[in-house]
Amino acid sequence: MTPAVLRKFNEIAEPGRVTTDPAALVDYGRDESPGPEFLPEALIRVKSVDEVVAAVKLCRDERIPVTPRGLGTGLAGGAVPIHGGVVLSTELMTQVVEVDVDNLVVRTRPGVVVEKLQQACEQEGLFYPVDPASLDTCSIGGNVATNAGGARAFKYGVTRDYVRGLQAVTADGRIINYGGKLRKNATGYDLNALLVGSEGTLGIVTEVTLRLVPKPRHRVDILIPFERLAQGVELVLRVVHDTRLVPAVVEFIERKGIRACNEKLGSELPFPDARVQVLVELEGNNLDQVLDNCVRLGGIAMELGAEEPLVADNPADQDRLWTARRKLAETLKDIYPEVVAEDIVLPLSRLPATVERIARLEKKHGLTVVPFGHIGDGNIHVDICRTHGTDPSSWRKTCDAFVDELVDYVLGSGGQISAEHGIGTEKKRLMPKALGSSELDAMRALKRALDPDNILNPGKILP
Ligand SMILES: Cc1cc2nc3c(=O)[nH]c(=O)nc-3n(C[C@H](O)[C@H](O)[C@H](O)COP(=O)(O)OP(=O)(O)OC[C@H]3O[C@@H](n4cnc5c(N)ncnc54)[C@H](O)[C@@H]3O)c2cc1C
Repeated sequence: MTPAVLRKFNEIAEPGRVTTDPAALVDYGRDESPGPEFLPEALIRVKSVDEVVAAVKLCRDERIPVTPRGLGTGLAGGAVPIHGGVVLSTELMTQVVEVDVDNLVVRTRPGVVVEKLQQACEQEGLFYPVDPASLDTCSIGGNVATNAGGARAFKYGVTRDYVRGLQAVTADGRIINYGGKLRKNATGYDLNALLVGSEGTLGIVTEVTLRLVPKPRHRVDILIPFERLAQGVELVLRVVHDTRLVPAVVEFIERKGIRACNEKLGSELPFPDARVQVLVELEGNNLDQVLDNCVRLGGIAMELGAEEPLVADNPADQDRLWTARRKLAETLKDIYPEVVAEDIVLPLSRLPATVERIARLEKKHGLTVVPFGHIGDGNIHVDICRTHGTDPSSWRKTCDAFVDELVDYVLGSGGQISAEHGIGTEKKRLMPKALGSSELDAMRALKRALDPDNILNPGKILP
């Protein structure tokens, strides 16, 4: 970064929004993944699409790597500038442009915090249902770039299922607008599909149009304790198979996670000694029917050997049940000096065997492993936690051996290595196992076609 180039950055945005001060750059050299920090040479906090265009053109002319960044809550190292260069932050692009009630869409800039976006939609009586546990700290642009999921994905799907239109700036500084408020669109290649989940490697998202849905009037949460891990998982299969019910949420937390939350949050969570807790949310517009479904679900759970479930039908009780689930990932990071977060996904039918396999691998490798997450989607977060006093480098080796065995098992069961966190740098080494050479070559060809100089978030996703 020569002084001359820096001067040009300062012409794009005023000095307060462009910095090379190492103290200010520290927070932009990492995300929420455990990987090492890499400081960028400069940070630019853009406010408009024109500024994004100008910054990307300058980076391309000068062959400077540019790492797009939302709010840095990513768990895969995607926003970490591993080749230095410029971090382009969208944190100031916080405008919800419009909630269009007639067309049931919201149009928003990428830097908006997801919870704020949801609130803006709810003020108009509409619902944006994708709710990552980080919803109060992550941006919608980051969600689009990682194809984020959340607790409600069982019923509502993930970010990809809501993107109707995108505006993005490509590596040559051109603006792509694809889709919009249309319910259907078969016009050429689906550029929305290409950009969603591309982790800032194919374009910088500057505006998103998302589909909205009506919010069901009633919601009831049920917390069910089980004594065996597999029982909790079998519940998912039984619910799908026997009842055809589609709960909004089916989450699970294993005992170590429950205890960690109790210890850290002091919230006296229910069923502290259960081997596994399953949290199910049912919703609908007819309260009697929702409660009937609760009884059916409770019946199945008891048949599987659950203790009496706890039902929460008011916001205060529901918040109490949700605290542990929402805070779990953060709590584990507070308690343990290092946490490696795996994000596997499998066909639902393989879940019972998989949770048993995780427990066996944990024992075999002598690690502390906390499985939890969106079990209804076949998505298990497997957090491997380094305990205090353990040597970090030997722990890393054991952790890698655990992950390799786990991933072999998952891939052999028809699963994949990332459901919602993305690949970034953290999972890159696993890509040749996860995908064949034809798939990787097709991805490389796309990257080369759209970013021939490899300036957009280089070193991510593709080994
Ligand atoms: C406690 C906790 C809980 C979490 N729970 C969930 C969960 O339930 N579900 C889930 O899916 N994830 C979860 N995450 C992960 C994380 O919140 C998501 O990946 C989120 O989408 C990242 O958003 P961000 O704004 O922080 O993006 P960042 O971390 O800043 O960036 C993530 C990636 O997106 C790219 N990017 C960001 N903005 C843009 C843009 N405008 N254009 C192009 N590329 C861009 C970056 O280059 C990077 O590759 C959790 C994280 C934490 C810390």
